[in-house]
Amino acid sequence: MANKVHVKKGDRVYVLTGEERGKSGKILRVIPKQNRVIVDGINLMKKHTRPTATNTQGGIIESPAPMDASKVMLICPSCDQPSRIRRERGANGVVRICKRCEKPID
Ligand SMILES: [Zn+2]
Repeated sequence: MANKVHVKKGDRVYVLTGEERGKSGKILRVIPKQNRVIVDGINLMKKHTRPTATNTQGGIIESPAPMDASKVMLICPSCDQPSRIRRERGANGVVRICKRCEKPID
């Protein structure tokens, strides 16, 4: 059975550990098999690129690298705090509920 990642694409998350602890960003991609996520603006890696039509200089660009999903926590859109969630089966399938404010996230 595939890992169930607690966050999904488009979620805002808070970084719990590492050099970028305390920062937040939006999930760009989830890689469930590796339990990893790519977060906009977090864990940036410098990449050397060749000149292209849009970037005629080539050179170094920074792009976010995958990081462990356990290092981030979902920021609840209702209470705007990094929050633990629980899952509940509702009329429209499983919804995630913020344990802090008890509001549904999805
Ligand atoms: Zn909340």
